[in-house]
Amino acid sequence: MMGGSVRLGRLLGISIQLHFSWFIIFALVTYSLAFSLHDDGRSIAASVTIGIFTSILLFASVLAHELAHSVVAVRNGIPVRSITLFILGGVAQIGREAPRPKVELLVALAGPICSLALAGIFGVAWFVGWGRSQDTLDFGNPIFWLAWINLILAIFNMVPGFPLDGGRILRAILWHSTGNYRKASRIASAMGRGVAYALIVGGLGIVIGSGFTEGLNAFNGLWLAIIGWFLHQAAVASYRQVEMHEALRGYTAQSVMHTSYTSVSPDLSLAALVQDYVLSTGGRLFVVAQGGRLLGIVVSDSIKSVPRDKWDYTPVRQIMVPADKVVSAEPEEEALSVLERMNEHDLDQMLVIKNGLVIGIILRHNLLHIVRLRSQLQD
Ligand SMILES: [Zn+2]
Repeated sequence: MMGGSVRLGRLLGISIQLHFSWFIIFALVTYSLAFSLHDDGRSIAASVTIGIFTSILLFASVLAHELAHSVVAVRNGIPVRSITLFILGGVAQIGREAPRPKVELLVALAGPICSLALAGIFGVAWFVGWGRSQDTLDFGNPIFWLAWINLILAIFNMVPGFPLDGGRILRAILWHSTGNYRKASRIASAMGRGVAYALIVGGLGIVIGSGFTEGLNAFNGLWLAIIGWFLHQAAVASYRQVEMHEALRGYTAQSVMHTSYTSVSPDLSLAALVQDYVLSTGGRLFVVAQGGRLLGIVVSDSIKSVPRDKWDYTPVRQIMVPADKVVSAEPEEEALSVLERMNEHDLDQMLVIKNGLVIGIILRHNLLHIVRLRSQLQD
C-alpha cells in the first residue's frame, strides 16, 4: 500500500513494515522528551537514552493496537497481509472485508481496547512509581506520557468516522440493523469525511488563533489539520474500495472478459504491427501466438523502446513479454481479485488463459465501467 517501507520481520505470521515517515515521529518524540528531561536536570546521555526508549515503547504501543485488530481478524478467518507503521499511526492490511457485522465489530473494537489496556498499564506503573508523591499531571514523565498517548489513541480511534475504528463500529451497527452493507458503509464514510473536515477546519483555526491567543499551539493545529486531510483521503479511498467489492461480487474473470482479441505472428515486423494493427484498430495489447499457442503479448507502448528506423527489421518476438512472464487470470478467478492484481502490477489488461490457450482478455477500463454501472443501479 505504501512505498518507501522497510520490512522489520514477521510477527504472528504478519509482515511488519516501517514506513520512512515513522522516523520523523521517532526523532520528534525522542528529541522533545530528551529536551524536557535534560531541562529537569538529567544528563544529556540519560535524557537521550530515555527518549529513545520511550519512542520504542510508543512504537510497540501502536504495533500492539494493530496486532490486536489483526489477531481478531485472523481468528475469524480474515487474512492479514501486513502491518505498516507510519507517521500518523499504523495500518493493518486486512485481506478481506468482514463477512458479518459481528466480526467487523469485534475486529474494530480490539484495537481501542488494546490501547485502553496499555493506557491502564502505563498509568498504574506511573502511579506506583511516581504518582503518589505528585499532585499534578506529569507530562514530563515518559511513563505518564505513554499512558496519556495510549488513552488518546483509544479515544481518537473511537471517533465514529470510517475508516477509523469507531467508524467501523458504527458501520457494523448500521449493517446489523439495516442489513445493507453498502448503505452502512456510505453513512459511516460520510461521517468519516465530516470528522475529517472538522479536524482540518479546527486545526487551521488553531494555527490562525495561535497568532493572537495564548495557549494555542500552531504546531498542534497543523498536526490536526494534517490528520484531518489524511482521514479524508482514507475515507474516500476506503469507500471506493467498498463500492468495488460490492459491484464485482459474484463476477468471475470469464464473465467479464472480451473474447475478441487480436493475435499476431511472432515474426511480424514492428513496422507492420504499427501500420496494420496499432493504427488501424487502436488496440493497445496484442496476443503473440503461433498455431493457437500463446508465445507472449506485445503492448503498443513498448514499441517506442525501439528506434523508428529499426522497426522494419525488428520482429515482434523481440519486444514481446514472453508467455511465462505474462500475468494472467484463470477463468474462474473472481473479477475483484483480477482488478486487485491489475492494480498491483499496474496493468491495463489481463489475459484469461485456460490450458495454455488464451480464451479472452479483461480490460481495466471495462471492469471500472461495470463498477460504475452497478453502483448507479444498486442505489
Ligand atoms: Zn485501530
